[in-house]
Amino acid sequence: MKIICIGRNYVEHINELNNQRPDEPVIFLKPDTAILPKDSPFYIPDFSNDIHYEVEILVKINKVGKYIDKRFASKYYDEIGLGIDFTARDLQSKLKEKGLPWEKSKSFDGSAVIGNFISKKKFSSLENINFGLIINENIVQKGNTNQMIWKIDEIIEHVSQFFTLKTGDIIFTGTPSGVGKVKQNDKVEGFVENEKLFTLDIK
Ligand code: MG
Repeated sequence: MKIICIGRNYVEHINELNNQRPDEPVIFLKPDTAILPKDSPFYIPDFSNDIHYEVEILVKINKVGKYIDKRFASKYYDEIGLGIDFTARDLQSKLKEKGLPWEKSKSFDGSAVIGNFISKKKFSSLENINFGLIINENIVQKGNTNQMIWKIDEIIEHVSQFFTLKTGDIIFTGTPSGVGKVKQNDKVEGFVENEKLFTLDIK
C-alpha cells in the first residue's frame, strides 16, 4: 500500500508557514515503512530538533482506480480516519530552501500515525467534519473539512491522474493551522467530532 499526502490544503496553515497558495494540490508520498505501528509510542528521531505534529483527516481507498472523475470518487472509499503527518520541520526547511524533495523530512519511519477509521455513513456531510488534536489536555489544532481548498473527491480526481489508487491506500488530506513541535512525554490525542481515534505517547 502507499500513503498519498496533500500539502497546503488549508489557507490558515499556508499562512502560518508563509507558503504560497498553490494552483493545484501539493502531493508527496510516504512508504508503508512510515506507518507507526498501532499502540507504539513515537520516538523523536536523532536527525531533528523540530518534529511537528500535523493532524489530518484520512481517506482509505477501497478499490483500484485511475483517472477517477470527482463525480464518482465517493465510490472509492467507505471510511474516514484521522492521523498525524509528522514532519521534521528543520530538515524540511533546508530541503525547501534548496528546492530538493521533502521525503527525508516527511516520510521517515514512524512519520505516519494512522488512527481508527469510521464509516463515512456516520457523517451527514463529509464537507463539515470537525476534528482536532489535543496535547497534554490542551487543544492545539482544530479544523473542519469545510476549510479544505480541495475537497476529498477533488483530491481523488487529481491524484488518480498520476497514481493508480489501490485497495488499502490511504490519503492524508492536509492539516489545518496550529502545527507545532512535540516534545518527550507529550500525550497526544486525536478527535473526529466527539470520538477519539488515537492516543499517542511521545518518547
Ligand atoms: Mg501534512
